[in-house]
Amino acid sequence: MSQPTTPDVLILGAGAAGLAAAVALSGAGATVSLLERRPFAGGRAYSYTHPALNEVVDSQHVLLGCCTNLLDLCRLCGAAEHIRWYDSITFLEPSGAKNPPRRSEIAAGSLPAPAHNTLSFLRAPMLSLVDKSRIALGLLGFLRGYPVRDDEPFSAWLKRTGQTERAIRHFWEPIIVGTLNDTFERCSTRYAGQVFYESFLRSAAGGRFGIPSQPLSEFYGLVARLAVQQGTVLHYRSSVESIEVLPDGLWQAVASDGSGGVTRHTAPSLILALPFEQTARLLATLPEESPQRQRILPLLSHFIHAPITTVHLWLDRAITDLDHAALLDTRIQWLFNKTRIRSLETASRSVEIRDSEQTPTGSHYLELVISASHAELGQRPEQILHSATDELARFFPEFRQAKVLKSAVLKEARATFSVTPGLDRFRPAAEAPGGNLYLAGDWTQSGWPATMEGAVRSGRLAAEAVARATGNAANFLAPGLPPAGWMKWL
Ligand SMILES: Cc1cc2nc3c(=O)[nH]c(=O)nc-3n(C[C@H](O)[C@H](O)[C@H](O)COP(=O)(O)OP(=O)(O)OC[C@H]3O[C@@H](n4cnc5c(N)ncnc54)[C@H](O)[C@@H]3O)c2cc1C
Repeated sequence: MSQPTTPDVLILGAGAAGLAAAVALSGAGATVSLLERRPFAGGRAYSYTHPALNEVVDSQHVLLGCCTNLLDLCRLCGAAEHIRWYDSITFLEPSGAKNPPRRSEIAAGSLPAPAHNTLSFLRAPMLSLVDKSRIALGLLGFLRGYPVRDDEPFSAWLKRTGQTERAIRHFWEPIIVGTLNDTFERCSTRYAGQVFYESFLRSAAGGRFGIPSQPLSEFYGLVARLAVQQGTVLHYRSSVESIEVLPDGLWQAVASDGSGGVTRHTAPSLILALPFEQTARLLATLPEESPQRQRILPLLSHFIHAPITTVHLWLDRAITDLDHAALLDTRIQWLFNKTRIRSLETASRSVEIRDSEQTPTGSHYLELVISASHAELGQRPEQILHSATDELARFFPEFRQAKVLKSAVLKEARATFSVTPGLDRFRPAAEAPGGNLYLAGDWTQSGWPATMEGAVRSGRLAAEAVARATGNAANFLAPGLPPAGWMKWL
């Protein structure tokens, strides 16, 4: 693909945000260069072949039907065919001294929104009638939407609305800690409310649960391929070390390839589609008096990271027929049965496997996710593995007979930024730096918490800002899902 020496736009970072910006702008006819420090696209949504295990691992990412921008991007590049959809979530309680594990299912039924989950919710044994009535009263508060202001911690809302201890453990915690990835004190009611409004109340379609069935780097590889087909020049292994404004007003990024090679890339417009700490690092390479540095750098000290730890197990047998489940009353929030989830891919590629529940190497791959894993960050992998497998046996007695063939513990210390109460006023808009410098990334003012949807929205918003500034106003954002059923009248 031929490319002028100076493209219209330079984008740093080929995560969901940078890719979304590149697809929007190159699709609209702009020339785009995209620099990524790793040898693959997808950013934090990545997979790789574990060198010691010789298995392709990733930290399972999920999306919801209300992620309209992410889904639109997936449809454009063909990745939508690699999403498995589910209309129900299984909640499992562990076995006790006298009782076996117990299963509750929350599934959309035939009643119109916002009542679509009501029947399964009323039947769920994991909650008592009192718990359910408290939850229902709490949800009623989000019926007309979620708060505009983000200063109330979700912990205060739980108290204010009289949520019971079990309602918190069995309902609010698995969903909020699983989606916002931090403690209730470090999550604002605004974003907790958004999760429930969009996924539980507004429409049944918005709450559908989607899981990429491909390893994540392959999944995002399809988005990168589309950007390249549209003319984006994608430079892998280009780690940008500094940025500056040249005397002719062009932006320049200086990148190293990791083996001593240095390249310089210039363009009239520069989008930083990086995590907040990398954005801070590059802004700090601008002169101290630079307005872009002065406007943005002070905001970034208000952001904090939250970790996710995942435990990966390859067993000699299947221990469950569930594809995924929320595990209650443990450190583990979610179980993903990766062999079953990925079997869609192996089936479509006609790989010879003995039964649909085995990997080509004959083992059964499970992933256990520990969200907001602050405690696990300081623990040794063997300790985490030991406690996770102990807990797993309480949900799946078959696990006691199974042999663990291989295992791995992955800690992502900087998995997400936390939507701490009051953070919104520090989340910059795409055009906030000024001077043809733009920001993207899940942490910017996307209106969403740290998610792939938030990242894609931010990339599209940055692309819109670039287009506006160059006199080519364009609308790249996909509309949200319309309210369904009775929600149309609210
Ligand atoms: C373990 C884990 C589980 C998650 N689960 C979910 C989930 O289930 N659902 C969900 O929606 N979200 C989930 N997330 C969050 C989601 O991954 C992020 O919100 C999203 O991917 C952020 O995209 P981004 O483009 O903003 O940033 P990133 O993905 O971080 O992309 C930034 C890119 O910039 C590159 N880069 C950084 N510095 C430089 C530099 N100096 N020069 C060049 N390139 C650079 C990086 O290599 C990276 O590719 C999870 C995250 C983790 C870590």
